[in-house]
Amino acid sequence: MDKPTTFQHGKFKASAVHRLDFSELTLTRYEYVKNFEMSEILLPNTWIVVRIDGRGFHKLSAHYAFSKPNDRCALDLMNYAATHTVQSLSDVTIAYGVSDEFSFVFHKATTLFERRREKIVSTVVSTFTAAYVLAWGRFFNQPLDTNMLPTFDGRAVCYPSWENLRDYLNWRQVDCHINNLYNTTFWALVRKGEMAATDAEELLKGTVSGDKNEILWSRFGINYNNEPDMFKKGSVVLREYALEDFPAPEPGEPLSKTQADKQRKARQKAKVITLHLDIIKDDFWFQRPWLKTGKPGKSV
Ligand SMILES: [Mg+2]
Repeated sequence: MDKPTTFQHGKFKASAVHRLDFSELTLTRYEYVKNFEMSEILLPNTWIVVRIDGRGFHKLSAHYAFSKPNDRCALDLMNYAATHTVQSLSDVTIAYGVSDEFSFVFHKATTLFERRREKIVSTVVSTFTAAYVLAWGRFFNQPLDTNMLPTFDGRAVCYPSWENLRDYLNWRQVDCHINNLYNTTFWALVRKGEMAATDAEELLKGTVSGDKNEILWSRFGINYNNEPDMFKKGSVVLREYALEDFPAPEPGEPLSKTQADKQRKARQKAKVITLHLDIIKDDFWFQRPWLKTGKPGKSV
């Protein structure tokens, strides 16, 4: 006869008369709980943008004494983690980053994870965060402190048209420009002009771009145009192919599985590069038709 089994669980002591039953029958009895899992499928045929954003980076940047208004090492580390993410996920066509955020654009034809929102967002966030944390020591002398670990949140947004996607990226780049001009002027007033932060804020209230350019030039001899492009324009991470002169034709028929596999392999082979340039102008996109078609371009 079977002896009763005793389980010790915390302060509880419970006796079970029956042995634990791991038979298929028990599995079937519990399996219904899978029905509670809901997965949201991102709208087919739309451009998926996953934007990740540093959590509490205001505090984190103070803790690790990031330079103001821009810390080159911190931005290089962001770009490094984004490059790793683009390399790991061949369905990402382009990524754009500024400050502590990065947007990853998945081609509208992607079928990655059957377009399940949670799978896509969580994979991007953890791939990026893992690379960021692992590479920290390459960019900073100071080690990471367990009480102040970098973490990121992420969200996915679907853009139904190419124009919407372009406008999204334009929005981020204009935001980069406005914030950087403001921060550059603010920190010049505080550091070089020895002005109190509240006074600098007051002075900049209601000013337009021209006013800030003028303050930088007349008070500090700084020509904003000569500031580094990475600070002014943000960072674009993409696969490098030979630039083309004319817009490529629209993609026609849907791809067969073999064709799609071939293209994925070609994308995986391509070198991922980081650029700092104007992505609002059409030229950028005309020269890189692969971004829109999703087909690999001509090798360099
Ligand atoms: Mg943030």
